[in-house]
Amino acid sequence: MDKYEPLEIVGRGSFGVIRKIRRVADGQLFVRKEIDYRLMSEKERRQMVNEVNILNNLKHPNIVRYHERHVDRDERRIYIVMEYCSGGDLAAIIKHFKARNQRIPEDTVWQLVAQMMLALHECHQGRTVRNAANGTESRVVILHRDLKPDNIFLDEHHNVKLGDFGLSREMACAHEMFAKTYVGTPFYMSPELVTGSTYDAKSDIWSLGCIIYEVCALRPPFLATNQMELNNKILSGNVPPLPREYSSDLARLVTSMLSTKPDMRPTTACCLSHPRIQTYMRNVE
Ligand code: ADP
Ligand code: MG
Repeated sequence: MDKYEPLEIVGRGSFGVIRKIRRVADGQLFVRKEIDYRLMSEKERRQMVNEVNILNNLKHPNIVRYHERHVDRDERRIYIVMEYCSGGDLAAIIKHFKARNQRIPEDTVWQLVAQMMLALHECHQGRTVRNAANGTESRVVILHRDLKPDNIFLDEHHNVKLGDFGLSREMACAHEMFAKTYVGTPFYMSPELVTGSTYDAKSDIWSLGCIIYEVCALRPPFLATNQMELNNKILSGNVPPLPREYSSDLARLVTSMLSTKPDMRPTTACCLSHPRIQTYMRNVE
């Protein structure tokens, strides 16, 4: 870690601070996510190793780029060095607009949607892994499992960088579901998680639908003062309407992503074929 000079703290995570650092050799900025593993259960430690391994395999312009890790066994800490996203996170942007009583322009919303979708598509489409022992190939997909505005980071040009893979999972096949107690944030929790206990790619789509809704309405679609009331709202199938300023195209996309039945929700591939997203992608080419 001597190659880096520590700078200010830019965020606080569940297991330590996120600090800006500067590489001494060339002055390039990074962040260092500090993870104190003393207080972690065995399961949380496995999860942390998991986060590092998943990030290491993900190379995409809209996903926070992992650089290296450093284990300090004496201090019982792990440091993950990654790309610095100077634009902060989407939760802060939403707060900024809300405080000023302003709307995020629709073009900006589509840009965010396109970039978040590209990042999620990279995770969901998976990669082929080869079993060295018997030469067989299989596909693994990555489920983020904790999509919320706080975990969508932005760079200096306001480009999306999907981050915080702390709860993400790599699993064998896109269609295979697995039982799991949900550990993410309740506001973005899908109906199948409220009732049952399986999580698949479509649950990430639900959470992303909640995020897009929140970018427009500056509040999550389902709000409640207690868990039971929240569960009922999530299960009701009633999505409150988007503010009038936004197009019916955008409203339809959000509503489809918030279908109570996972099968009715579009895949990332399907969303990327949306004319508005196609237009955005042609313009950046
Ligand atoms: P946790 O897993 O504990 O929630 P996160 O990875 O979400 O930790 O980081 C917590 C906060 O720190 C984020 O919401 C964000 O504001 C900030 N942060 C994390 N990573 C970066 C980064 N690469 N660049 C800039 N800020 C970051
Ligand atoms: Mg987080």
